[in-house]
Amino acid sequence: MIIKKGNQFAVECQTKQASDCSQHGDFCDSEEEAEDWVEFECWIFSGEGWICIKCNEYFMANIKVQRKVKGPDDMDDDLFKGIETVR
Ligand SMILES: [Zn+2]
Repeated sequence: MIIKKGNQFAVECQTKQASDCSQHGDFCDSEEEAEDWVEFECWIFSGEGWICIKCNEYFMANIKVQRKVKGPDDMDDDLFKGIETVR
């Protein structure tokens, strides 16, 4: 999930589902700095890769739609399932 340009590194968005997806974070001098950058920007680590804020909002919005269909459920449970389907 790290993309390299010259000797610069950036973390790539894992899903790129949102139309306004950031695609990747800022280019930094090292992979560690690139990950620090996305962490600072509140990207979500899915276990396999990073999901940008825009895609996270997109998935959260979709979960809300699902919740309307399913009725009231435990919120945390739904959030977890939503992230699971992203993988
Ligand atoms: Zn994204």
